[in-house]
Amino acid sequence: MSTPHVVGIDLGTTFSLAAYMEHGRPVVVRDENGVALVPSVISFFDDGSVLVGSEARKRALSDPEHTVFSIKRLMGRTLADLQKELPLIPYQVVERDPEPGRKVLHVKIAGHEHTPEELSALILQEVRRRAGNPSRAVITVPAYFDDSQRQATRDAGRIAGLDVLRIVNEPTAAALAYGLDRRRTGTIAVYDLGGGTFDCSLLSIKDGVFKVLSTNGDTLLGGDDFDRALMSLVARDLRADPARRDPELLQHLRDQAERTKIKLSDAESAEFALDLPGRNLSYRRTVTRAEFEELLKPFIDRTLERCRSALRDAELKMKDIDEVVLVGGSTRIPYVRRRVEELFGRKPHTELNPDEVVAMGAAVQADILIGGRRHMLLLDVVPLSLGIETLGGAVSKLIYRNSTIPARATERFTTYVDGQTGVDINIYQGERELTKDCRSLGRFRLSGIPPMPAGLAQIDVTFLVDANGLFTVTAKEQRSGQEAKVTVQPSHGMTDDEVERLVLESIEHARADFSARRLIELRNKADAEVRHTEKALATQAANLPAEQRQRVEAAVTRTRQAIAGDDVDRLQEAVDELASATAPLAEMMMNAVVRATLEGKKMEEVNPEKL
Ligand code: ADP
Ligand code: MG
Repeated sequence: MSTPHVVGIDLGTTFSLAAYMEHGRPVVVRDENGVALVPSVISFFDDGSVLVGSEARKRALSDPEHTVFSIKRLMGRTLADLQKELPLIPYQVVERDPEPGRKVLHVKIAGHEHTPEELSALILQEVRRRAGNPSRAVITVPAYFDDSQRQATRDAGRIAGLDVLRIVNEPTAAALAYGLDRRRTGTIAVYDLGGGTFDCSLLSIKDGVFKVLSTNGDTLLGGDDFDRALMSLVARDLRADPARRDPELLQHLRDQAERTKIKLSDAESAEFALDLPGRNLSYRRTVTRAEFEELLKPFIDRTLERCRSALRDAELKMKDIDEVVLVGGSTRIPYVRRRVEELFGRKPHTELNPDEVVAMGAAVQADILIGGRRHMLLLDVVPLSLGIETLGGAVSKLIYRNSTIPARATERFTTYVDGQTGVDINIYQGERELTKDCRSLGRFRLSGIPPMPAGLAQIDVTFLVDANGLFTVTAKEQRSGQEAKVTVQPSHGMTDDEVERLVLESIEHARADFSARRLIELRNKADAEVRHTEKALATQAANLPAEQRQRVEAAVTRTRQAIAGDDVDRLQEAVDELASATAPLAEMMMNAVVRATLEGKKMEEVNPEKL
């Protein structure tokens, strides 16, 4: 395998993996046994060493208290968000307040505390290592992730020493992997049922441009639930309470439940076998597919209900859907495929491995971002509505959920009290009407408003979500021109400083990062220079003496080669040579501009690239 410079990473709740582009096609990174999926499991040893992946997953059985799984569920969340699932997590989760109003979760293992971002970074590092340590990556997240969850994912990437080019929605990546961007026009439904999350997204495609029309889902529904349903079935027989803190039994039950479930995807019946000689426990039970489907039904019903909601949100009918894509390991279950096909009335795409398509699509997206297919644009949506607090704890929404980004909205507010010289702007995210039911994203104050009677001030509040999902709020009082602005950071999770500290803690990474960043910046610069020169050559070559032209062409070739390599010094040399070789060309174009000006045209009318 050649070493890719940039990879797409599917950072999954249960499994993670990477893919990269080779000869214009996405290739999944596999180990020497052909295995692509890295279990998102981390195991800690007393001597401080850490194990990630399938070895950690095996150890989960013998030493569950030192093993962390499903860490993605904790990303960007607070304890209050996690009430439903805490009983299902055998490791200890605590909440810390590094400062008033900001909460950070920690996982406590053998007396040490780790943030979800650090733990996810360990998974990313393992995936990165398997791919030959690339410096740049696109990382995917469920479409339903909110700002703080996306930010936490980005931070995890940085801690792992990666330059995160973009956070991309998993369904969008899946559609890309299937090459659905080649359709002239159409509507695509992506049904993603993994280990820990479910989402259904509707995308439109028009002339190679994707747009997410709506997303709906449940970050608490997936294959883990099917395992638990089987566990409960068996626990009843064993008269054991699966929620009881008996980590060893719990892990064995979980492991056997998953095995049985996977067998049932190929066979009509499977045996659930549990052998714990130490406890004098030996148990056998046959589970039929019909029995299993009975257990699945309420879960699958729920997923289909979410798909219908997504259609409603996008104001679409079932017949408007042109393609259905299945994503996630749990869509290997025949019952799931049958129900999805029934719902949409068409056969879903299953040609690619459902647990690999997201990483493949992320690789395609990464390639687009570094310039391989620059013409393609991916539009995303705002996952939750954004608004500000008005009188009485109500939220006035400025940008509604599922608005296409970039999104901008302005609304005018005024003062309530005579002589009021400042207003507090409190920003919220969520669908509910009251601030107490929404998530606070931050607050700032617009001050310096000249005193005037109540209701006279004109305060325009503008929300802007840019193409990278970065959210900025500006408030401007129109009469005085007084203005204040904030880039919104989630009010919990890690601060930039904390992330920075974690990045620097690993000196090894810090050093690698520095030269990687220099290489990235230089590559971008070189890339722009080459394109610029080629454009100029296309129009000016005939006016240039042959020997000068050859020198420019040779410099372009050398720069291109250096861009593809990773030798910073060589690239710097090539860029310098290109600059000096193109000097006569630049002079010629400048002369043309001056000539045009003397002929009475204005400078702005003359675009040197178009001469
Ligand atoms: P995630 O994106 O949530 O990390 P994946 O898409 O890899 O996860 O899906 C993992 C889930 O798929 C697990 O619950 C796993 O048990 C389940 N799974 C994998 N293969 C099969 C199969 N053949 N039949 C049923 N479920 C499967
Ligand atoms: Mg997934």
